[in-house]
Amino acid sequence: MARGELAPPPLRNDCFALPPGVSWTPVDAALERLQERLAPVVSFEELPLFRAAGRVLARDVMALRPNPPEANSAVDGYGFAADLGGASGEVTLPLLAGRAAAGAPFRHVVPEGYALRVLTGAALPEGVDTVVLDEDTASDGATVAFRGPVKPRSNTRRAGEDVARGASILTAGRRLTPADLALAAATGHGTLPVFRQLRVGVLSTGDELTEPGAAVAPGQIADANRPMLLSILHRWGYEAVDLGRAPDDRNALAALFDRAADRVDALLTSGGASAGDEDHVSALLTQAGSQATWRIALKPGRPLALGVWSGMPVFGLPGNPVAAFTCALVFARPALALLGGAGWTAPDGMTVPAGFEKRKKAGRREFLRARLREGRAEVFHSEGSGRVSGLSWAEGFVELDEEAREIQPGDPVRYIPFSAFDL
Ligand code: AMP
Ligand code: MG
Repeated sequence: MARGELAPPPLRNDCFALPPGVSWTPVDAALERLQERLAPVVSFEELPLFRAAGRVLARDVMALRPNPPEANSAVDGYGFAADLGGASGEVTLPLLAGRAAAGAPFRHVVPEGYALRVLTGAALPEGVDTVVLDEDTASDGATVAFRGPVKPRSNTRRAGEDVARGASILTAGRRLTPADLALAAATGHGTLPVFRQLRVGVLSTGDELTEPGAAVAPGQIADANRPMLLSILHRWGYEAVDLGRAPDDRNALAALFDRAADRVDALLTSGGASAGDEDHVSALLTQAGSQATWRIALKPGRPLALGVWSGMPVFGLPGNPVAAFTCALVFARPALALLGGAGWTAPDGMTVPAGFEKRKKAGRREFLRARLREGRAEVFHSEGSGRVSGLSWAEGFVELDEEAREIQPGDPVRYIPFSAFDL
């Protein structure tokens, strides 16, 4: 398999550094900064079509052949030259021996005045440009009769009527869908240039964490973030690498970061992202000289530690599962897409009437766990960011912008289904 030439430059160590004096970063400013600073870090390869689904296209692709490659019949019926079907009233034509079928073309010219048996998908032989549908004919095997007029070129497909040779069919950065594979195959491709799959590690931090399902001693809780983040990465089409749990110990964490940097293209951590005594993710990234603890004007979320460790971008998500989930969708999703070659995308939301009432502080953006019922957005009864049940209940977010203060039932609000975040 040929490896592409593309060797992306390493990320700058200070690519996440905030300008001096910045305290609260608005969500849009944080997103803009990520978009500016990140670029693809993956090389590309030529993959067989059969293995390319879900991968990111690395180059624009054109049709090598027209689709359909030749004019053919869209139905089972009888083919002839257009002018013969033009008359109104009954038309009777002598039948030529033989037939044209898909994969078994009729190799002779159909002479003026004759009709030929043709089946769906058959290339139209010379002398045939119009087909009358079986159901509209009567035939004794030697002649065929039908009622005219039959419109010229009825029931046929022109060569290239779907896609012309050389037409652009797929653009770089696209995540290949099953239908894309059909299109590429139909237009002559057996392989496609795709980016190597981005490898993303997931590491949970915190002395209190135990493995899901394991016995819990006093003071311990199950690691809920790791299974969630790993499965999110799978859904996004990345190679998700489980890097386990890290204690609240700076040296141990540094060693885990070192190992991660050898194995993955980017790292998602959760926990330890603010500026407290046990917030080792942000402390380490600061120590490495590359970090910015972004206090994002966002609920839930707020502390987001972004840094680069030995060339590996680290997204230090908050520990609370709801905040980790939200920050992963809002920040890590577009950022990882850029790193993986897919380009930046913003989720598409829709405006719907609120099915709830709420007061909020101005100056920060809020994402409420929500779902649509009868055309209205309802929100989870609690906004507690440790309420994992609300995450599972929700099917999307209501996004309230910085200026919003008071929402009454029926007010228009922006609802973003999780599917818009590629979940
Ligand atoms: P931290 O950001 O480390 O201060 O953690 C904030 C809260 O999230 C604390 O209550 C943690 O116990 C909790 N937390 C951190 N990591 C996880 C995790 N992986 N799963 C569940 N809860 C977590
Ligand atoms: Mg912690």
